[in-house]
Amino acid sequence: MKGVIFLGDRELEIRELPKPAPGPGEVVIAMKASGLCGSDLRPYRTAKDQRGDPARLKVGGHEPCGVIAEAGEGVAGVRVGDRVMMHHYTGCGTCKMCRIGYTQMCILGSDVYGRAQNGGHEDFLLAPASTCVALPDALSFEEGAACACGTGTAFHALKRLSISGADTIAIFGQGPVGASATMFAAAMGARVIAVDVVPARLELAKKLGAAVTIDAAERDSVEAIREVTHGEGAHATLDATGIPEARINAVDSAMLWGKVCFVGEGNTTTFDVSPQIIHKQLTIYGSWTFSLGGLAEVADFVVERNVPLLDLITHRFTLDQAVEAYRLFDGGGTGKVVFTWP
Ligand SMILES: [Zn+2]
Ligand SMILES: [Zn+2]
Repeated sequence: MKGVIFLGDRELEIRELPKPAPGPGEVVIAMKASGLCGSDLRPYRTAKDQRGDPARLKVGGHEPCGVIAEAGEGVAGVRVGDRVMMHHYTGCGTCKMCRIGYTQMCILGSDVYGRAQNGGHEDFLLAPASTCVALPDALSFEEGAACACGTGTAFHALKRLSISGADTIAIFGQGPVGASATMFAAAMGARVIAVDVVPARLELAKKLGAAVTIDAAERDSVEAIREVTHGEGAHATLDATGIPEARINAVDSAMLWGKVCFVGEGNTTTFDVSPQIIHKQLTIYGSWTFSLGGLAEVADFVVERNVPLLDLITHRFTLDQAVEAYRLFDGGGTGKVVFTWP
């Protein structure tokens, strides 16, 4: 079987690997879809000399979705033939964070699939059965892959913000996470202002339910948001870029008593706390992915509300086309990109 290894400096290798066999409590998932997520671009872009010994690097990808092909001894809750998404972390299983399903926050440290363990960019994935979440019949594998990180992250960030139909929300960045947030916030009834610098991404945002789009390369986004909110700013704002300037704009375009959520990772950002945050009485959230149960929740929401998640998926590749797929995704301007298997 084959797996994709990020070598660094925007190079990857499609490596021949032994097919895994499940140990006690483990399953082997025959991959059917594996999403490309913004955080895969970090190991992809990192300098080669910082990636370590190439022979020891693990298979990338952390949005796995497929069918259980084999189950090891003592596996309960899932069976061979089940369609599943994988929650791509493991922890000790017994600490406070593991017990609420946030294994990524395990107090003893967690393992991330696609980094410390082989991830979804391979034909067969070895996973603890406890990380598998049933994929609803009504969802395709590629939709399940999206839910497994980027799309699920957007949904749970909006839940932190308690978005309702009475709110206007400004969403900075319309990549796969930001566009998912646009789609869900619209499905929750909110009025969405979508901000990006790539016209194709703004077009996609409109299709997914944005009421207003702002090209931040053309004009000042804070001013533009105030113009469409009676000069007050948005009830809530969300940053899915991780870019300092966009984070500052997310804070500055929130109304008095408004709420801000940071989802985009990386970078250091400086705020003048008194005028920008304290005197505006802002509530600021950080939101990092979601729990094991949260994965089932986002998939159910997509089904129950008929959320147009398939429209988010703009490009499909086979694993053999990994070089091309990552080159395209790295260039920005796409919606969700996924690897698929027949
Ligand atoms: Zn733990
Ligand atoms: Zn991710």
